[in-house]
Amino acid sequence: MTDRTPLLIVGHGTRSAAGVAQFGALVERIRRRGAVADVEGGFIELSRPPLTDAVGALVGRGHRSVVALPLVLAAAGHGKGDIPAALARERQRHPGLRYAYGRPLGPHPRLQEVLAERIDAALDGADRAGTWVALIGRGSTDPDANAEVTKVARLLWEGRGYAGVEPGFISLAEPSVPSVLERLRRLGARRIVVAPYFLFAGVLPDRILAQSREFAADHPGLDVRVAEVIGDCDDLADLVLERHAEALRGDIRMNCDTCAYRVALPGFADKVGRPQTPHHHPDDPADGHGHHHHHQHHHDAPALRPGQVAVVGGGPGPDDLITVRGRALLDAADVVVADRLAPAGLLRRLRPGVLVVDAAKVPRGPSMSQDAINDTLVAHARAGRRVVRLKGGDPYVFGRGHEEVLACAAAGVETVLVPGVSSAVAAPGLAGVPVTHRGVAHEVTVVSGHLPPGHPDSLVDWAALARARGTLVLLMAVDTVGRIAAELLAHGRAAATPVLVVRDAGHPGQWTARCRLDEVGALATRDDVRPPAVFVIGPVVALAADTTPAPAAVSAQG
Ligand code: SAH
Repeated sequence: MTDRTPLLIVGHGTRSAAGVAQFGALVERIRRRGAVADVEGGFIELSRPPLTDAVGALVGRGHRSVVALPLVLAAAGHGKGDIPAALARERQRHPGLRYAYGRPLGPHPRLQEVLAERIDAALDGADRAGTWVALIGRGSTDPDANAEVTKVARLLWEGRGYAGVEPGFISLAEPSVPSVLERLRRLGARRIVVAPYFLFAGVLPDRILAQSREFAADHPGLDVRVAEVIGDCDDLADLVLERHAEALRGDIRMNCDTCAYRVALPGFADKVGRPQTPHHHPDDPADGHGHHHHHQHHHDAPALRPGQVAVVGGGPGPDDLITVRGRALLDAADVVVADRLAPAGLLRRLRPGVLVVDAAKVPRGPSMSQDAINDTLVAHARAGRRVVRLKGGDPYVFGRGHEEVLACAAAGVETVLVPGVSSAVAAPGLAGVPVTHRGVAHEVTVVSGHLPPGHPDSLVDWAALARARGTLVLLMAVDTVGRIAAELLAHGRAAATPVLVVRDAGHPGQWTARCRLDEVGALATRDDVRPPAVFVIGPVVALAADTTPAPAAVSAQG
């Protein structure tokens, strides 16, 4: 049966005329099969026809939905970044165009068989048992792609009777061709077949041949042969059609578990959350033309672009109460401007080379003024850096986050807001007290104690809060809680209203104490009660998971 959704085969491009011819022959072979009604092939750079012509031809024949198959052996920069970016440009050119993206070709048993056939051809009757194979992949800055080549090498070895198969790489990864050949020589190899794990001819397969010959010339006793690349063949056509059918079923089965763009792999943590960055291979154009855009990875990982400021809530302090999104943006940052209450452990685990600006604001002590912080954010963003403004708790709860967002907007700098777990809710919760509870408190009011009652700039209606029956949460109130309690009592709050103090919530030194509203002024003078602390006032405090009755004076746990 002929499938009506067309197949768009996307190649990266090569400066090798032979490689371009092999690609064209494969497209023609697949077309002749007739399994898919319409087939086009195009390159994203270097070679003709360009992708845009192939898409234009399909759209011109009335197609609005295609299967786009990246003609790559493993998911690395081209499959994850360059080709999706090129397809995104085509979708802008042709509004309404949709595509299903196929998965990379390998590893696949058909390809393993083709590799074994190419090796047999090079052996020309010599026995497998006396033969070592050096399987040479392209090499990538993406560790997962290199691991795929290693897997292919192992699969090739299994059950085929070679003396052994060792992986190597022609660029960007180790071991190199000469070092894998030297390794095999030392293992006692007398005959080695170098098998390029490449689809088509190109600059890199040529280099594999040259380096293998050079090694052979230096070691006359050693029989070194080089196998052909996979090339245009029926097995490859079968596999491409299999990937087409699979993409139509929505069955992609990509392995994202070891993708450096989502998981912090040792030595590659700087990739997490980043869009694919431009990368250069030896057969890319020398000027890197066409690589100056930033590629959108196929994963929907949050991205922080150069020149943007992310205002990120870090949570109340332990390193693991930041959101997953906040953590990813932190990993992507070039500059982190941190508050005193921002989770300190996170700052110790940034990529090497990340600039950390300490905007510590010690209460009523010397501080970096808000204007200076705003200027710092804008200056780094304008210099093209990815900036994270890391704050304690939630940036929009007494965090001045919005002042910074507005300052950036006024300077024409784009911002991203990442909410955080606020201490206003988390500190009571971590101390076993819910800020609301059915039948006990149906409202919660979060109040800054920064300005005491009666202060001319205060915007708080303390009399109204005294009349209310719900939960009051006071932040920044260590110095003012006595005056606040007196004001609440004066306006009618019951003296026996329970109060909870939580200091350093979520930290190993979290400390809590409970008392009555008419006792909290005295409690607050104790040395234990110091910032950062929240006060919770209201009947919910009596529900504390630890239900030891509050003694006349003070109950504390440190
Ligand atoms: N944006 C922050 C609040 C900043 S104001 C948030 O959403 O949490 C600073 C006040 O937050 C402190 O004075 C204290 O009242 C409270 N606070 C922050 N972290 C705290 C913690 N780990 N334990 C107790 N209180 C905390």
